[in-house]
Amino acid sequence: MPLSSLRARPGCVTALALVAAVATAHDAGPLHERPNVVLARFPTDPSALQPDIAPVVGEIIARHGEEEWKAALLTNELHRHLGIYSLVGVKMGIRAREVLDASLDDLRVESHAGLHPPVSCLTDGLQVSTGASLGRGTICVADGPAGADAVFTRGEVRLRLRLRPDILQRIRQDVEKAVRQHGDLTPEYFEAIRRLSIDYWLEMDRREIFLEELSSHAPGEGPQP
Ligand SMILES: [Zn+2]
Repeated sequence: MPLSSLRARPGCVTALALVAAVATAHDAGPLHERPNVVLARFPTDPSALQPDIAPVVGEIIARHGEEEWKAALLTNELHRHLGIYSLVGVKMGIRAREVLDASLDDLRVESHAGLHPPVSCLTDGLQVSTGASLGRGTICVADGPAGADAVFTRGEVRLRLRLRPDILQRIRQDVEKAVRQHGDLTPEYFEAIRRLSIDYWLEMDRREIFLEELSSHAPGEGPQP
């Protein structure tokens, strides 16, 4: 299955019609802007980027927008390697902000990605892309089975996003193949994962890769796992 097939998958994305309606409504508006703290501007010029990123930066921003680019850039520097799951976390968090019309201060996040890499790398992407961080006390990692799965709460509205099983399976196969070919956690393994990550970064459309469940809970009632 070519990676490009991750883009077009009509009819299997949303679990609830309500979600589609809300998502469409919110897709129409721009994402809340990320205020800069230290940087005057985020680098987008190819000359400021690594040689394997420089040729694709224009296409990444054209396909996925500047806010996803900023969150991915910060995540990759924080996470200190290019990884598929951390990028899935970036796309998941931006998608949650899009559906819930949330700024960087609005969300509480419950990650279901566990504490063991590579799946737990997803949580770093979630922190940067949503602004919900361990330091701010607005994100936690739930006990239980680990998966590419998280719950986002804004006020009384709760959104669960899970990576589509077919995409998760594809990522697992690619990671297992890299381990077989290069050994686990070797420099060659990380090089192979880096190449794969760039492909997934470019090809995964956040509007199409998640199963989305939107619900609401009564005031005072916490988010359910
Ligand atoms: Zn990682």
